[in-house]
Amino acid sequence: MIPYIGIADIQRIVQRTGVGAFIARLADEIEADYRRWGEFEKSARVASHSPEGVIELMPASDGRQYAFKYVNGHPKNTAAGLLTVTAFGVLADVDTGYPLLLSELTLTTALRTAAMSALAARWMARPGCRSMALIGNGAQSEFQAVAFHRLLGIRDLRLFDTDPAASAKLERNLRKMPELDGLRVTRAASTADAVRGADIVTTVTADKRLAVILTPGMIEPGMHLNAVGGDCPGKTELHTSILTRDDARVVVEFAPQSRIEGEIQHLPQDFAVTEFADIVCGGASGRASAGEVTIFDSVGFALEDFSALRMLHSLLAEHPDLRRSIDLVPSLDDPKDLFGGVLGGMLEGAPALRRAA
Ligand code: NAD
Repeated sequence: MIPYIGIADIQRIVQRTGVGAFIARLADEIEADYRRWGEFEKSARVASHSPEGVIELMPASDGRQYAFKYVNGHPKNTAAGLLTVTAFGVLADVDTGYPLLLSELTLTTALRTAAMSALAARWMARPGCRSMALIGNGAQSEFQAVAFHRLLGIRDLRLFDTDPAASAKLERNLRKMPELDGLRVTRAASTADAVRGADIVTTVTADKRLAVILTPGMIEPGMHLNAVGGDCPGKTELHTSILTRDDARVVVEFAPQSRIEGEIQHLPQDFAVTEFADIVCGGASGRASAGEVTIFDSVGFALEDFSALRMLHSLLAEHPDLRRSIDLVPSLDDPKDLFGGVLGGMLEGAPALRRAA
């Protein structure tokens, strides 16, 4: 039997830990894994594009454990009552190849993306940031709000979405969360209105096109940009000249993948970027001066899902009452007798066959 985490299970796990505490712990796990960057087998994700979206497989391994995530991105789905992003994944033991955990990763992706965004901002944003503009108020947005409140100390959040109902939903949800006590939430009339004077700007919109959510005139010295929504070819959020400003620093997760999928996809292959691992390992700094514009060009990297799956696996060990299993892999007396062990009931004379007859 293989441990299994479905939607009802992740609901119980996150209720037990608390959303903010879950994200904070996951940010620490992700940082610890980025610190051992050299140990990981890394590859850009395998993407299958269609006119309406993308389906991707994201593998990562540290030689002891292997993880993969299946994830989709379909911006028009919400009009049909479906999520833009859904996901599930597996953590496996490298020595035997056996799965250790099969888990939902839709909610977990939102948690890990927010954890990674806030982690990057902790290294890149100016100390003492208090205000954030949150552009795109869909499924990922609450998680981003909680992460930046908890890990960065954001106290003033300005929301904007082209769909006012999405902003109303986000505001409603945030106001009901006791752990966000002290967070001032306001709705802005436009992206420019939300961004003006903000310390941090998070863009987490979904549109399968080269959108320009942020234009050069909106950017102020010292801002930190957390660009989350541009994450596949032909789907970006920032005007290119923001990235090429003399005072801008662009940080990515895994450069070979980000050059295909990130905001930097429009720029030459040799455009200078810093990998996040270089910052946490001490080879590069996240910010050189208070006036620098720092940009985290987030696309989501498999290592972050590896960290999330390992943390979920540990949480099940810490909370055995939350543990559930499914019979994903047969358990056999004789591992060479797969037929007899699983389909033995069909063999002549077997009790199951007699019953069926
Ligand atoms: P969603 O569809 O639930 O929400 C997206 C919101 O963006 C919608 O409310 C939509 O109205 C709004 N929007 C679209 N165009 C806009 C514009 N021009 N200005 C303002 N708002 C606009 O999607 P979601 O699940 O919240 O995901 C958001 C984005 O984040 C997607 O593009 C997804 O692919 C991406 N994503 C990235 C990562 C990562 O690791 N970087 C992880 C998960 C999701």
